[in-house]
Amino acid sequence: MKRQLVWLRSDLRIDDNSALAAAAAKGPVIAVFLRSIPQWQDHGHGANKLDFWARGVTAVQTALSGLNIPLLHRDIERYDQAPETLLEVAREYSVEQLHFNYEYALNERHRDQAVQAAFKQAGIAAHGYHDGVAFAPGSLLTGKGDYYGVFTPFAKAWHKQVSADQLALRATPQVQAALNIKSDPLPALPELASAPVDGRLWPAGENAAADNLARFLRFRGRHYNAQRDLPKVRGTSELSPYLALGMISYRQCLQAVMSENGGHLADGDIGLTTWVNELIWREFYQHVAVGFPQVCRYQPFQEHTKQLAWRDDDKGFQAWCEGRTGYPIVDAAMRQLVTTGWMHNRLRMITAMFLSKHLLIDWRRGEAFFMHHLVDGEFCANNGGWQWAASTGTDAAPYFRIFNPTTQSTRFDAEGEFIAHWLPELAHLPAKARHAPPQDLLSDVAYPAPIVDHKAARQRALEAFKSLSK
Ligand SMILES: Cc1cc2nc3c(=O)[nH]c(=O)nc-3n(C[C@H](O)[C@H](O)[C@H](O)COP(=O)(O)OP(=O)(O)OC[C@H]3O[C@@H](n4cnc5c(N)ncnc54)[C@H](O)[C@@H]3O)c2cc1C
Repeated sequence: MKRQLVWLRSDLRIDDNSALAAAAAKGPVIAVFLRSIPQWQDHGHGANKLDFWARGVTAVQTALSGLNIPLLHRDIERYDQAPETLLEVAREYSVEQLHFNYEYALNERHRDQAVQAAFKQAGIAAHGYHDGVAFAPGSLLTGKGDYYGVFTPFAKAWHKQVSADQLALRATPQVQAALNIKSDPLPALPELASAPVDGRLWPAGENAAADNLARFLRFRGRHYNAQRDLPKVRGTSELSPYLALGMISYRQCLQAVMSENGGHLADGDIGLTTWVNELIWREFYQHVAVGFPQVCRYQPFQEHTKQLAWRDDDKGFQAWCEGRTGYPIVDAAMRQLVTTGWMHNRLRMITAMFLSKHLLIDWRRGEAFFMHHLVDGEFCANNGGWQWAASTGTDAAPYFRIFNPTTQSTRFDAEGEFIAHWLPELAHLPAKARHAPPQDLLSDVAYPAPIVDHKAARQRALEAFKSLSK
């Protein structure tokens, strides 16, 4: 039995890990993690995600050591150093085969292709596994053989074709005989431009993820449909950071849902089945990144929207970033993001639409700001969400559907509790006045007047979109 090398990336777990399970079935395993901080920073990740990533690597190293699997650590600047660095490790430890789980954004795919080519040339097999999705991108296509550009038919096809095999959990490796190889000490993160949020908000590792999932399904899963749009209620799973770095897998999530829901994914409890759909959204955007690689180059999915005349408005952008737009629901949401590294989905839609429609500021600026702050920042979902809100993407909100932030606020934060929590300066106002505080109630309060008028801003966005030729 020859040594196998597992290259861990955004799959930081020992349970239900395709690459790890396949490697362990072939021989004793060594694992390696390549830290590529400058490259990740180029991709826009900030302190929150980098810190969570680092803590996740520590957690998985501990879990691996319980299986006698050493985790080596290498620092590289850029992805193009990955092939040589991995080959050095493979040669140093006389490894027979390399195993890794695919990632689907363009730079990651190019990196993986280069690694596979270098290993082929060196005569060492390198196996990739489609671990983070039920269907390998390219294997779930429309009747015409195209990638889906619309979610609903994608989800229908997903439900129709998904098999028990695709959902079956991969075996956790047995404890292996100890190797004479030590795990590398994990270096601390270098000093970053800003400090991460308190790590206790997002405890890292698969045990924390599993606890989260269990608590969500036990207490909130069945109410998901009714509560998922209410930012003040803790109604969603808050599993996104864990899914983004693979501290939990979609299979683990779906298996747990099925055991709560009489074995069903599409029928049964509406809360649980709605939640399953969200996991399929996640997979959808991963397929989109492969099928429509222009989105990975920050180009709009809908070609004709390239011509849109986005406004240069640094002051407006700054006000949005700092939660000073004068629209309380937008400002409260932005403060939640900056303070916790996470924002509720309904609010991601509201704030993204406010920036791209009310301020008519290029969605890519907002996408980058989100990526910088999100602990769950993930290219495919973030880009998909932003392009949806800006009406440039797949399933885009039709350009004429522009959320009125005040209406959204009264609908989804009826008592203004979320606003009061994040904007304590407005907490003294009667609940109903918190959505659009009248200026005369703000005389003693440092809270700005709205930076744009909803109606006028809406009209401006409509005209900008209408003027595009298809
Ligand atoms: C502008 C914008 C930016 C976004 N950026 C990201 C991002 O960087 N990373 C990210 O994981 N999600 C992103 N989302 C999707 C969604 O907002 C988050 O996944 C969700 O809020 C995470 O909370 P949760 O784990 O409680 O989700 P739940 O409601 O419990 O959903 C379960 C899981 O399904 C997935 N999911 C849910 N909704 C979506 C969706 N619309 N698209 C893709 N996957 C989804 C997530 O992995 C999530 O953890 C973005 C959405 C928008 C509108």
